[in-house]
Amino acid sequence: MSVLVVGSTALDSIKTPYRENLRLLGGSASHAAVAASFFAPVKLVGVVGDDFPKRYFELYRRHRIDLDGLQIARGKTFHWSGEYEVNMNNRRTLATELGVFEKFTPTLPPSHRDTPFVLLANIAPALQHHVLDQMRRPRFVAADTMDLWLNVALKDLLRLLRRIDALVLNESEARQLTKLDNVISAARRIHRLGPRYVIVKKGEHGAILSAPSGLFVSPAFPLEKVVDPTGAGDSFAGGLIGYLASRSGPLEANLRRAMIYGSTVASFCCQGFGLTATTKTTRTAIEQRAKKLMQMVAF
Ligand code: AMP
Repeated sequence: MSVLVVGSTALDSIKTPYRENLRLLGGSASHAAVAASFFAPVKLVGVVGDDFPKRYFELYRRHRIDLDGLQIARGKTFHWSGEYEVNMNNRRTLATELGVFEKFTPTLPPSHRDTPFVLLANIAPALQHHVLDQMRRPRFVAADTMDLWLNVALKDLLRLLRRIDALVLNESEARQLTKLDNVISAARRIHRLGPRYVIVKKGEHGAILSAPSGLFVSPAFPLEKVVDPTGAGDSFAGGLIGYLASRSGPLEANLRRAMIYGSTVASFCCQGFGLTATTKTTRTAIEQRAKKLMQMVAF
């Protein structure tokens, strides 16, 4: 089954202690869509400016991503730049230039409205609502968010929580949202706000799924060298929903395996700048690494 992904489609300038790369393809939706494309057909919803390089459209197409919902507007593509500290975990945003995102309203082509799996990747909650308003009874809706929206659009975000099946967020966001230090308590509190499934990402320490049947913990795939973690969270969410869309059978059992696949795709993302490593991988390589990850936690 197919997956609809809405979120930011960006040009990212990324600085690590070792290298700097300017205007790479990025954005939450780009990372998530490419990650999901290894498992299921993907429809991308977003906006780019008329400066968006041709080669990036080709990259989406190579991953068979449906671009009917990608608007091309007059103006500049959303540009984000960030800098990592030596530990590669702490990141500072240097600039966020909204460009065409400032006036963006996601309008779904009729062919997109029946998509069964929906990922509302990181973008303003009002836009995530707007996409849901146009969907006809999707089977599973997951949403991602970021600290910015907790600060400036909390009301919209809280309203969104009542409309989704799963919330994916990182540890510090879970604490900020619930004002609870303990992430397990925070996940329980988030269930009460709406979502049946809460997935807390803990960066290099993996991710925790809180579901009605209990907790499931997935480690991150241990990497000796992280080149650039930008988009790892989005790749995790994209890989997870793509895998779910590709499986039949009980959702919750699939969701546990999907956590492993999400973690696996995220690890490929970290091995190159922007999307370079993710786009070079294959379904076979993902399967091999997912198997290794499962062996690492079996005893
Ligand atoms: P992550 O590393 O998973 O937190 O995701 C990084 C991606 O988020 C980058 O590719 C950015 O383009 C994108 N991004 C950064 N700030 C925003 C924002 N305010 N809204 C939407 N996407 C953003």
